[in-house]
Amino acid sequence: MRQWEKNIRTVVPYVPGEQPNHKDMVKLNTNENPYPPAPGVKKVLENMDADILRLYPDPTIKRLVQELAHYYKLEDDQVFVGVGSDDVLATAFLTFFNSDKPILFPDITYSFYPVWCDLYRIPNVRPALDDNFHISKEDYNKENGGIVIANPNAPTSVYEELSVIEDIIKNNQESIVIVDEAYVDFAGASAVELINRYDNLVVVQTFSKARSMAGMRIGYAMGNAALIKALNDVKYSINSYTLNQTAIYAGVEAVKDVAYYKEGIRKIITTRDWSEQRLMELGFSFPKSGANFIFASHKSIPAKSIFEYLRSNNIYVRYFNVPRIDNYLRITIGTEEEMKRLFTFLKVFIEADQ
Ligand code: PMP
Repeated sequence: MRQWEKNIRTVVPYVPGEQPNHKDMVKLNTNENPYPPAPGVKKVLENMDADILRLYPDPTIKRLVQELAHYYKLEDDQVFVGVGSDDVLATAFLTFFNSDKPILFPDITYSFYPVWCDLYRIPNVRPALDDNFHISKEDYNKENGGIVIANPNAPTSVYEELSVIEDIIKNNQESIVIVDEAYVDFAGASAVELINRYDNLVVVQTFSKARSMAGMRIGYAMGNAALIKALNDVKYSINSYTLNQTAIYAGVEAVKDVAYYKEGIRKIITTRDWSEQRLMELGFSFPKSGANFIFASHKSIPAKSIFEYLRSNNIYVRYFNVPRIDNYLRITIGTEEEMKRLFTFLKVFIEADQ
């Protein structure tokens, strides 16, 4: 082995869901929003003058920070913006998780967390979710170097009441607790309301789900000013110009259009409730979803064969071949038409098996 080979940082990377681009496909595999972003976003793209791209974007991302702070009733210095919440979370792991003690997160959760631990050499312990995929909050009452909880969780879709999250934050005031709220708009109360009470809390959200902008890559963290400064110090030590000009302007328009945002959430929840009913009729069980996806298991047909059958019919859902969840499908909520097509195929496949 050559010396330089030993010096390479090796890591087993995160594997994102596939991004097929077939005509007439139904894409329900990566929790994207089936509706377009707010009309103001489209206007930004149409009116964008290419000349502006000569210049570097604003490194402080001020316009978008201000707009988000205004919407969430925070101060500007309580908001950090990054290139999708993956970027924000990666920066937060690097910034906050530097203890010799292990950080804690559930055994079944967003599969990027163990990858960042591996990349940054962060020791970690992963308490098991209970049989209903809920957190046992006592598991988080032991010594740790930090905690990260996705709420609602992925890929289970389970939302924990804010009181559970608050207890974990309250009992761990010597650690930073990151609450990853990528899907919270489809669930219930956000931990944002706890920020001014707990200085060890960082809440991370994204434009990829409820704001329909996965392709634009915008995420943000909210917390007290000292934590946000720490995130910015790390960001400026890697790359000052994270968000591009277009994303900054488009992001502002998305945050401003509150009515469109709320209506989009309502549509997804309506289709989700209807889809849960249909899935039940077809013999699926699932935890009550607090997200824009359902995590479902069939009473007799293995998830893998349903996944493969759907895929061969141009319908994409997500299947994880990992312990405890290898008989589940994660199905993103699409438009009503897309879901109807899914159910037409599911019904044929399931009835053929009876
Ligand atoms: N957190 C969770 C729990 C997620 O499921 C996702 C989406 N894959 C993300 C964060 C990252 O989303 P994004 O980088 O698009 O903001």
